[in-house]
Amino acid sequence: MTRRKFVAGNWKMNGSAAQVDAFGRALVEAAPSLDCHLAVCVPFVYVERLARTLEPSHVAAGAQDLSSELEPGAFTGEIHGAMLADCGARYVVVGHSERRELFGESDDVVVAKAEAAVAAGLTPIVCVGESLEQREADATESVLARQIDALTGRCQRRTLEAMVLAYEPIWAIGTGRSASPEQAQSVHAFLRSQIANWDATIADSLPILYGGSVKPDNAAALFAGADVDGALVGGASLKADSFVDIARAMV
Ligand code: PEP
Repeated sequence: MTRRKFVAGNWKMNGSAAQVDAFGRALVEAAPSLDCHLAVCVPFVYVERLARTLEPSHVAAGAQDLSSELEPGAFTGEIHGAMLADCGARYVVVGHSERRELFGESDDVVVAKAEAAVAAGLTPIVCVGESLEQREADATESVLARQIDALTGRCQRRTLEAMVLAYEPIWAIGTGRSASPEQAQSVHAFLRSQIANWDATIADSLPILYGGSVKPDNAAALFAGADVDGALVGGASLKADSFVDIARAMV
């Protein structure tokens, strides 16, 4: 099975209009030589600007969160998935550990947001991962199994068919301490097997990205894993050069 190869950036709460413009222009220039799917998920207010700049290329714009509500209405401050699609977003990050930890998003909320994304025609990049404490307590697989069970148990089939999964060990995010290629491959194989218990065809075609301190110098080794289909990149996606170098390691 040839799975989609995919590198996505997550700018978190970083960037400016000038940065979006410069980054977009650099990506449009580099895109013809990058033979993988690419997306950059920026703060809400820059999604439309980035999407317009990226239009001549195959690089997609995305957002980092959306409302779990299926219908628009009285939810002050929230952003509906259809509004993101209107702005040109094609992807949205869902269940990032920062949303889970800092904003109290439960597995139920993550499921509802993945559903809302697909209902709006967006591809959710659904993040799962364990903390350092959980890894050291040998609980990595049980934590991930719980997060995956929530998805397979409560999402509609079309959501699981549409989504991209991102394994992001919390201890590797923004720390400069990436998982080793062996650790990443072993967890990715476990995640795929968990999904296969539910549906082998979906498991086989599901892109599973690794996220956590991916840089140009460790990307190729991480991508060598048979079940590592790409990366979700935080810090190194803020500069076009490093993001492009990571994408080159994928192809
Ligand atoms: C992230 O926040 O999704 C991430 C992977 O960050 P970093 O690459 O900076 O570790």
